[in-house]
Amino acid sequence: MSEAIRLRARLFLDAEIHVVTGLHIGGAGGKVAIGGVDNPIIRDPLTEEPILPGSSLKGKMRSLLERWGGYEPNHSIGQARIHVCKNPEGYSTCVVCNVFGVPGEIEFARPTRLVVRDAFLDPQRRDWLREADLDLPFSEVKWEAAIDRITSAAVPRQIERVPAGAVFRALPIRSFTGRSAEEAEGEAAGALMVYSVYFPDDLDWFEHVVEAMALVEDDYLGGYGSRGSGQVAFRHLRLGYKIPDQDRSYPARPTWMDRYEDLVAFRRALQSMLQQIRARIPWS
Ligand SMILES: [Zn+2]
Repeated sequence: MSEAIRLRARLFLDAEIHVVTGLHIGGAGGKVAIGGVDNPIIRDPLTEEPILPGSSLKGKMRSLLERWGGYEPNHSIGQARIHVCKNPEGYSTCVVCNVFGVPGEIEFARPTRLVVRDAFLDPQRRDWLREADLDLPFSEVKWEAAIDRITSAAVPRQIERVPAGAVFRALPIRSFTGRSAEEAEGEAAGALMVYSVYFPDDLDWFEHVVEAMALVEDDYLGGYGSRGSGQVAFRHLRLGYKIPDQDRSYPARPTWMDRYEDLVAFRRALQSMLQQIRARIPWS
């Protein structure tokens, strides 16, 4: 049984991620870390600037939403345990599995609604960080006392962090083409999240994406969160959409709605923005 499903619209969420306390998202060895630091952060291999992988943000949003909703973690991905619906009945109404996706081998699955892009240093903050007096390019090294589990001795260890005050955002195409911010204003590639709408329910489910962002703000991204690292805040948020026109051609650029200062203001306006979008989508 396979149903034909039609892409009705796409939502685009443009937002900045402000680093409130030093952020450690670990790199995966391989290259020798800059400065030979013990616990290096992940950096763009070309520019060597810190990046915030979309997978880190999306994974954290998912796991917090699972915990908030009391979903049973029943599936292992690497070291993590996540919730995955194993039967079509549960899946059809499951926000987490539909929005965040399920492993590819589950045949009844519909397309994952949410894509989270990698985020890069905001160009303005990049210059500020470059001129700041930091331990390493774009990062600070924090010394912490780790306790040796066998000898109980305190062993100092280094943790590399992106310092408080850094700002990440999804990369607009201008970064590759040299176009100005104004010219790139309408570029979809600048959106941190892209959300596909197939069914009317998908618009209701989008509210849980924004709810998950609120859960992240009260938690942390990356490592050492219980020791204070990784607090982030979403700022300057706006929602855009692409809805096919009468001849069903896919729009080149999203239509952007108002920008909101923070997540609280954005959430307050979300219902009415989604209603406007719902009314514009030709469902039949
Ligand atoms: Zn599920």
